[in-house]
Amino acid sequence: MLFRELGLSTSFLCETVEQLGYTEPTPIQSKAIPQVLSGKDLLAAAQTGTGKTAAFSLPIIDQMLIDPIAQDSEKKVRCLVLVPTRELAQQVYEAMVSFSKDTGLRCVAVYGGTSIKAQRDALKLGCDIVIATPGRLLDHHHCGHISLKHIEHFVLDEADRMLDMGFKPDIQRILRNLNSQRQTLLFSATFTPQIKALAYKLLNQPAEVEVAGKNSTAATVKEMLYPVDKQKKTALLAYLIGSRNWQQVLVFTKTKEGSDQLVKELKLDGIKAVSINGDKSQGARTKALADFKSGQVRALIATDVAARGLDIPQLDQVVNFDMPFKAEDYVHRIGRTGRAGRDGLAVSLMSHDQEYLLAPIERLLDRRIPQEWLAGFEPSPISESDNPGSPRPRRGRNRDKQKMKAKLKIHSGRGKKKS
Ligand code: AMP
Repeated sequence: MLFRELGLSTSFLCETVEQLGYTEPTPIQSKAIPQVLSGKDLLAAAQTGTGKTAAFSLPIIDQMLIDPIAQDSEKKVRCLVLVPTRELAQQVYEAMVSFSKDTGLRCVAVYGGTSIKAQRDALKLGCDIVIATPGRLLDHHHCGHISLKHIEHFVLDEADRMLDMGFKPDIQRILRNLNSQRQTLLFSATFTPQIKALAYKLLNQPAEVEVAGKNSTAATVKEMLYPVDKQKKTALLAYLIGSRNWQQVLVFTKTKEGSDQLVKELKLDGIKAVSINGDKSQGARTKALADFKSGQVRALIATDVAARGLDIPQLDQVVNFDMPFKAEDYVHRIGRTGRAGRDGLAVSLMSHDQEYLLAPIERLLDRRIPQEWLAGFEPSPISESDNPGSPRPRRGRNRDKQKMKAKLKIHSGRGKKKS
């Protein structure tokens, strides 16, 4: 299928995407673009990396261009895209700017961590499309820098992550200020009951599109899980990066401290690494991402929240240094690779203390993740009594438990038998 066959009425939009190197639409684009063009609300199940940004941007731009209001002399914000993170806001902004090149449409991105004044000035100049994170958008709205009354197209991108990050009250506040005569598109990687409830409230008889199974991972991603002792994880990661000559790997840790620690440890192994987490300033995060993209550093270490929405083209490897606490995060994390049909590899390093996190992930995926032991990194055996159930206790604690059991045995041997 070609972009020209999707019903876009402004043919130069097709030329623009061709210039961007998009030879054919991705599955989400083929399915969503005709629906959005029809003016319907849309509920879309699509992960990052599937081409979802163009799936909503192109038909919205097309509709804005053919609508006579576009000729209006005074610029009003007609499209609002709400995203959970600063990085995603910047990426969607860049995509929107490149798609709307030479159309006269103006895009502005507003997100926290950068000067509110510069954003205010950009809004005051007048714009058609605003890409925003919820908190900063409300700040601007509160100060009267932006009116939401003329929004015709409202996109809630990565809605599942929005809810995870606690943005529900902000979203509700924003919704109260929107025009009810609008088209609403909701994109989410996973469909939890909370997302379904939000979609039910927000959307009016939506068309539904889905790429890959809900809660599923891209078919082009090869997954492998290595059971390994906790203290050998860094060595195993360094070994994988070195022996397999990985040039760009995104590594997930469960904490900010863990991400900084891992950077130090990898550096000792001669691997250039940088972390991106919520403690870093916007400037540091942007620089870290730029260094990673340009190949100056080989490993980008991130927490789930920080990594959300990072657009790193041609990412071949993702590593779960720590297993994710939430099963849905497994899907999000490995969605960073195998993008737009490319092959990708997702590796998970699982120490005994994180084994209990595997079952919920496999339940969500509805399949087993392949496992193998890597020579030299085989996990130490643990005895039956080390595994009394889920969650698996730490081995240190088990040793204490064993000692306690031994003591009790001696004690009960000497004492009275319990009746
Ligand atoms: P997204 O899911 O929107 O974050 O897009 C993921 C990546 O796929 C981005 O780097 C896009 O530039 C790229 N992309 C989107 N659509 C296409 C397409 N039709 N052909 C090739 N690459 C695409």
